[in-house]
Amino acid sequence: MIEQTKLSDGLQIFETLESEVRSYIRSFPTKFKRASGYRMWNTEGKSYIDFFAGAGALNYGHNHPGMKAKLMDYIMADGVAHSLDMATEAKELFLARFSDVILKPRSLDYKVMFPGPTGANSVESALKLARKVTGRQTVMSFTNAFHGMTLGALAVTGNKFKRSGAGVPLNHTISMPYDGYMGKDLNTLNFIESFLNDSGSGISLPAAVIVETLQGEGGINVASTEWLVGLADLCKRYGMLLIVDDVQMGCGRTGSFFSFERAGITPDIVCMSKSIGGYGLPMAITLMKPELDLWEPGEHNGTFRGNNLAFITATEALKFWESGNFSRDIEVKAELVRNVLEGIVRSLQGLNGETRGIGLMQGIAFEPGVADRISMLAFERGLIIETSGTDSEVVKIMPPLTIDGEGLAEGLRILTECVYEAAAEIKIPVTHV
Ligand code: PMP
Repeated sequence: MIEQTKLSDGLQIFETLESEVRSYIRSFPTKFKRASGYRMWNTEGKSYIDFFAGAGALNYGHNHPGMKAKLMDYIMADGVAHSLDMATEAKELFLARFSDVILKPRSLDYKVMFPGPTGANSVESALKLARKVTGRQTVMSFTNAFHGMTLGALAVTGNKFKRSGAGVPLNHTISMPYDGYMGKDLNTLNFIESFLNDSGSGISLPAAVIVETLQGEGGINVASTEWLVGLADLCKRYGMLLIVDDVQMGCGRTGSFFSFERAGITPDIVCMSKSIGGYGLPMAITLMKPELDLWEPGEHNGTFRGNNLAFITATEALKFWESGNFSRDIEVKAELVRNVLEGIVRSLQGLNGETRGIGLMQGIAFEPGVADRISMLAFERGLIIETSGTDSEVVKIMPPLTIDGEGLAEGLRILTECVYEAAAEIKIPVTHV
């Protein structure tokens, strides 16, 4: 008879059996059991407010009731769960609704590709397509960019630690300074253009430029609308394709469905994943202008492109975008977050905090060590909040977009207390303003 391993009170099996590569369990060391909306509960029934939202995969919260009902109905009716890229009714419904609710009202003419269901795979498909269409090899990316962990996506990612995990050279890319990287007064686009113009620069013309309009993992760096408009113009003038990686900033994180809407630009290719499936189910899409759709059948494929359970919840999630109310609601909450963060920075001036971000992707950058301490204190008090930036220097506030006023206020109150506590530990006085 096979002996049955007993479930433990703690995290033993994760520590003994699960690979050392595990990471979030180290920041949030408890065993979760249940989740609803913006709350999670561990096995002991302790409640946590979620200001992490599955790293952007839970923009509509945990177990959204409408999506759950549609999913349950579909499963109970023996709806097709897996289908590679065969035609299913679930996929048809998603495509039709995505076109009606998202693309048409924005006058966007894109073909929709279903790559493997991760952000990294969407990025891989975008890079491949750009190279195929232009016949060029180099792709330009930016300092502090994050695009995923597979080799192609890593090659356009900035983080040294993550890059070194590749174990092989990461070629055919060039990293250029993101907006603000060279100080407030220097427009990095001029610097980039001088390279493109100079036959002595050592750079061949890139196939494409891949950019996040707001770098989430890289430290909540916001590209200005002027810079984004300038970048789109630069791409056009030099014949480089513009790829916007909206894996984390898409689906409303910055207020609008696509993060590039605030700049009024139209990328050639758009990568989406995380919250596109609505419910936290794996799904990704790559959008491309129709004239770029030069794929041969099956030239990029993947077993889990047809995750119909995700198509069901993704279709339901589009209800949020039928009017402008959701965007307006996000902006109201964003304003509240901004006020609280600015208040913290003003009253603890010795911490040299800097508020960053837009929409419900905001944070405060501190000197190294402080943000990690705040995240740890917050977890003890029932708030899940992660850090970002190369040195984990930014506390990153990323609640579900559906969070209500009460949850947001409670989370922000816990956060404020934790910043004060972290400041007191390193003897930073309160500034009375
Ligand atoms: N691009 C961006 C901007 C991301 O934030 C992420 C994930 N954090 C990815 C790509 C990779 O997505 P995945 O982890 O699903 O491969």
